[in-house]
Amino acid sequence: MSHRLTPSTCLLLAATLSGCASMTAPSATGAQGSTAKPAVLAAPSPSTPPRPSAVAAVVAAAASAVAADAGSPELRPYDKLITTDARTQDGLFKLHTIKNKLYFEIPKALLDKPLLMVATATAVPASVDHVGRALHQEVVRFSLKNNRVYLQSISHAFVSDPSRPIAPAVQGSQRDAILTALQVESYGKDGAPVIEVSRLFLSEVGDFSARTALRATGLDSNRSYIERSKAFPASLRIDAVHTYGFASAPVLPGMPAMPTQPPRSGSVDVAYNIVQLPETPMRPRLMDDRVGFFGLSRLDFGTAEHGSKRERLISRWRLEKKDPAAPMSEPVKPIVWYIDKATPAWLVPHVKKGVEAWNVAFEAAGFKNAVQARSYPSKDEDPEFDPDDVRYSVIRWVPSAIANAYGPHLNDPRSGEILNANVVIYHNIMQLQRDWYVTQAGAADRRAQVLPLPDDLMGALVGYVVTHEVGHSLGFPHNMKASSLYPVDKLRDAEWLRTMGHVPSIMDYSRFNYLVQPEDKIDPALLIPRVGPYDIFATRWGYTPIPTADTPEAELPTLNAWLREQDDKPWLRFNTPRPVSDFGETAEAVGDADAVTATTLGLKNLRRIVKQLPAMAIKRGQDDRTLEELYAASWSQWTNELGHVLAIVGGYDSRNKHGDQAGATSSPVPRVQQVRAVKLLSEQLLSTPTWLLEPAVTERLRPFEWESRLLQVQRNMLRGLLNPGRTARLQAQEAAQGAARAYRVDQLLADLRSAIFNAPAVGSSLLQRNLQRAYLDVLIERLGSTQDPAKAVLRAELKTLKPLFAARAATGDRLARAHWDELFDTTQRALDPRAASAAAPAGLTVVLRPGFAEAEATDFCWPAHQHP
Ligand SMILES: [Zn+2]
Repeated sequence: MSHRLTPSTCLLLAATLSGCASMTAPSATGAQGSTAKPAVLAAPSPSTPPRPSAVAAVVAAAASAVAADAGSPELRPYDKLITTDARTQDGLFKLHTIKNKLYFEIPKALLDKPLLMVATATAVPASVDHVGRALHQEVVRFSLKNNRVYLQSISHAFVSDPSRPIAPAVQGSQRDAILTALQVESYGKDGAPVIEVSRLFLSEVGDFSARTALRATGLDSNRSYIERSKAFPASLRIDAVHTYGFASAPVLPGMPAMPTQPPRSGSVDVAYNIVQLPETPMRPRLMDDRVGFFGLSRLDFGTAEHGSKRERLISRWRLEKKDPAAPMSEPVKPIVWYIDKATPAWLVPHVKKGVEAWNVAFEAAGFKNAVQARSYPSKDEDPEFDPDDVRYSVIRWVPSAIANAYGPHLNDPRSGEILNANVVIYHNIMQLQRDWYVTQAGAADRRAQVLPLPDDLMGALVGYVVTHEVGHSLGFPHNMKASSLYPVDKLRDAEWLRTMGHVPSIMDYSRFNYLVQPEDKIDPALLIPRVGPYDIFATRWGYTPIPTADTPEAELPTLNAWLREQDDKPWLRFNTPRPVSDFGETAEAVGDADAVTATTLGLKNLRRIVKQLPAMAIKRGQDDRTLEELYAASWSQWTNELGHVLAIVGGYDSRNKHGDQAGATSSPVPRVQQVRAVKLLSEQLLSTPTWLLEPAVTERLRPFEWESRLLQVQRNMLRGLLNPGRTARLQAQEAAQGAARAYRVDQLLADLRSAIFNAPAVGSSLLQRNLQRAYLDVLIERLGSTQDPAKAVLRAELKTLKPLFAARAATGDRLARAHWDELFDTTQRALDPRAASAAAPAGLTVVLRPGFAEAEATDFCWPAHQHP
């Protein structure tokens, strides 16, 4: 079995994708993050290649060019090249297929126009990667020069007001790269160049390649071909099959290991989309990091400011009112998601509900029916519909063992306009939802005490996943702070839960309300997160039109005024951009305004749930796999909840403020709260949690595993408590507040000493002795690092422990004496400078630090459990 039970809260897959990517990383790709290039404004190329005005001139010019370039094929008359054998499609470009060759006929009007080119993996070798993986995207142009068409990437890294003298230099410092050159073979009647493009889709042009994603060695063109091509009015789609060689067994974390030997090569289907960017870019809205939006950034050299100015635009859909004067209007073009035909029929209504849950937020921004979910239309309803056409956004249902979901989107890098946003839901998300719901709501909701969960409940859980993913597709990143902004005592109050929910944002990694006790008699529908006050606020801030402003800059006073609503309503606030160990930015938390109270209640429920597991999961005629899965999920829940408490020690409460908002941006957690947190850890982690080792469960599983797992969690948490970052923060708090007011490192050590060595039953059990030994190792590990301001305190603690061990070694039975004697010897050796290096184990890895930085660095939304 390979359940991962590391007490980190964010065990996510290391792929580059999507909505869960860091919002702070400027990315030309908007969502995919597969290139790190900052994006934006397409200034027209200063050197538009000369274009002949008539076919005669084209051919004449071509003749001389061809003469000068003897290696190039001669221009052929159009009808000799595009013969009657050609299969021609009309669309953004004309596509001609002749035998196995693909030709583009590029209308002259589209030469030099910015186009978005995207490559996506649509079918992958089993166990190697996952479907829907975005490989690369870039803004490109096709330019004609001397009978060649050059595919160039367009850089948007720098911009400048074109009227300023610096403008040509700005353009000169981001010369567009030529990705490939293709010979013109003929010209259409209107002078449109015809080029053979098969090579563009059968080799690795620029960064358009699946090699990195597949961890492959090389592309074999002999085993690669163009499968099909489609021309749509505003886009093209070319599907190719690429075959790669693999150096070694490529297995993506989170994928079950394949029973057979991994292949030495594998084929991948790559879909290329070439999309026309809107004629008029949408007016951008400038980003403010006090409210969460994905964004794009650019460096503007053309402002009156000293130096360059980094400007960031939010990602959002173009919503315009049908009736601009009305306070509430339908949009000219609603945001529509089409529900994949592969979606199980019984889930379709829940998926639709999950999408349209966002309308409440858009109504606050003045739009009615802004967000819609539809089934695939019939040919009569929409003859042009094709889920491959990027004009249509699709909620895809993907058969994969990965228990996850994600929501990548395509942006116009000039304006931040979201052009397309597919949401991908993996079938196995249902198992993850089951595991969470059972271990979080299994005490308060009787439906979660019997398996399988009823369809309407599972439907609501999937609907919740869809709403979260659609949130990413609307431009919203995670808001880990949200769950800590409600008073914890409100989270068992039915009235509050009805109006406010248990978390202000569905974009937090807050799951199901695990604080609610069975005796609270709360309607279980209220245990599931939904679009909350923060989401409504962010939608209003990002999407409400500001007709009085003519420029993005002119919107700023209004936007700033709207933001100040956060002053009085803390639950409208967003993450702090620079993580400062905010205890409220932990993942998987409910009620982390006071995690001690939240965890106390949560663990009360978890005790009941673990007891319920054998009755619900052991079934006649079945193996114990479900029991094992749910038991592992219970451990995850236990470590997650303890992790939120751990974050209080040496933690801060932070708030992002701008210049016009007075006061400090962060304050240390008061000493009394830190003492409470360590007390809870002493009781729930350092005293053996015998309830978790429920014999009715463990007797059905491998007997030796759980005790050692417990020790591993304890050791990791102790490392987390004493990691150098945390002790440094504790010392900083001491320096700022004074020794009398702060919770000091020596007090933390004394509290741990008392919990681990001086508790009444200490020394009596093997598990306690193992913990004592592990704690001593952790302390000694810390002495191994040389530049550690806490070293003196840690060393002093070892000196305090030594006589304690000596005294204990003189009493008790033979085993106990041996134990204390061994601890004494180890301490003695560690304190001896001659033996210091030998005593220090290598590696000070800190396993546990839940929070913002880790959470935002991940790519998927839903931590995956690995199943055997
Ligand atoms: Zn997410």
